[in-house]
Amino acid sequence: MQLDSLENAMLSAINPILKAIIERFDVDCNQDGDLLVNSLKRFHGEDIQLCRNCRNLSRRIADPFYEIGSRILRIDKDFMRSMFLGQKYREAWLKGFALMMKGIRKYGIHIPFTPAGPFQIVWNFTYLCNLKCKHCYEDAGVRQSEFTTDQAYETLDVLSRIAGVGLPSLSFSGGEPLLRKDFFEVTAYAKKRIPYISIATNGTLLTRDNVKQLKDVGVDYVEISLDGASKETHEGFRGVSGCFKKTMKGIENCVDAGLDTCIAAVAHRENQGEIPIIMELAEKLGIRFINFNYIPTGRAKEHMELDLAPEERMSILEMIGRKTVNLYTRAKQEEVETGRTNIRTDQFLSTCPQYASVVKNLSEQIGEDFKVSAHYGAKRGVENIASFLGGCGAGRLYIALEPNGDLKPCVFFPTNRETVLGNILEEGFDELWSNTRMLQELRNREHLESYKLGGRTIGCGNCRDKYICGGCRARSYGYFDGTLTSADIGCIKNEKLWKRMAKSAQ
Ligand code: SF4
Ligand code: SF4
Repeated sequence: MQLDSLENAMLSAINPILKAIIERFDVDCNQDGDLLVNSLKRFHGEDIQLCRNCRNLSRRIADPFYEIGSRILRIDKDFMRSMFLGQKYREAWLKGFALMMKGIRKYGIHIPFTPAGPFQIVWNFTYLCNLKCKHCYEDAGVRQSEFTTDQAYETLDVLSRIAGVGLPSLSFSGGEPLLRKDFFEVTAYAKKRIPYISIATNGTLLTRDNVKQLKDVGVDYVEISLDGASKETHEGFRGVSGCFKKTMKGIENCVDAGLDTCIAAVAHRENQGEIPIIMELAEKLGIRFINFNYIPTGRAKEHMELDLAPEERMSILEMIGRKTVNLYTRAKQEEVETGRTNIRTDQFLSTCPQYASVVKNLSEQIGEDFKVSAHYGAKRGVENIASFLGGCGAGRLYIALEPNGDLKPCVFFPTNRETVLGNILEEGFDELWSNTRMLQELRNREHLESYKLGGRTIGCGNCRDKYICGGCRARSYGYFDGTLTSADIGCIKNEKLWKRMAKSAQ
């Protein structure tokens, strides 16, 4: 039995006590508001005036709970203090914290855990697109029914009330979100209700004027797709000539405007040799880089031959992982020498969940214990809760919203009767989040499958890293005819399955 499975068995015994303790201070006070959040601020040293009852509950119940919790989880208190009190995204962190506590109250603690509502929603805001990318998960470019501006506002009102806390982070994607004429007004409305707003774009419409408007409405992060270091590769994949130059200009405009900018590249058979050059470009510009996994959904399903073999994916993940480990090492050294560091460890990211396993192994090779806390990135200070956060977050930490309001576990799941959980304006979000069978299945790592092959047992179910990774469930769904629990055959540990599948396809 794996250690985390054992911990899960033990946790189920103490969960009734944990739930009862949190219930005591999960209080919405008429005078002071949410005591979960207020007690946390107070615990971290904010001078906050509370009524007598809130003060008592804070001191007698919340403080010892936080103290013991942070010791057990070995959480860096200075880091937490700076995230919850001292930086511009504190509102998003506080909402995330409240969702986590309410999630523990509702579902108990499990590894990985489930909050009372998602930390992030990716909203495919439109089916419209001006490119014709081979891998488009949305099969975008064809006009289909999507929400009106009023329905978009109504949706944002719903999101701002999720679990009585509200959504911490919303990302606009598509299609190409900038093609919707109401994009800026809807985003401005969103920013008043949701603290962290980002956009995923193909970059071709990021003129100086549009970038200024992004800044003006308060967009916090811009992710721009670049799938080749050359015009030929990028446009060959994205299907429209002239788009390379526009995208490069869009990146430049965002950097010039001082926006938090990230280059996103889907690594596949035809561009893998150019990934290092794209990463160099990001480094030169001082911006982030994220490697997107190739996932057979939408139009990508028609080009399965582009998917990387496990050893090819591994080589890319190791290259990105070495950069992350290097940043960790430098940050640690600088902190030892000077007592502080500004080096960010979350500059190189990947949406392949096995990136967590790769970084863990690379850091162990140099005698360290660095971890990426989810497949989205590496943050110093929360490494010890990597398995608690748990890699693939589909339907657990995150959920996807379609242009017509349909909810799916992840944008990389196809849209069908099985994957559409319900519509955000027709069904209660909290009810869907709690009671949908598909989401419950995605949240449980104990059901992942293992396979006996060549005298060895492989598969995500048998993997010691399944709690920090979990395999991409959309890839399981895409490769195994709608199964949620199969192996992620893009992982090096499941290479034998990949080879067997490749052989049977010949
Ligand atoms: S076998 Fe599955 S759970 Fe383990 S590292 Fe690979 S993809 Fe992740
Ligand atoms: S299924 Fe999980 S790992 Fe795959 S893309 Fe979605 S969130 Fe990421």
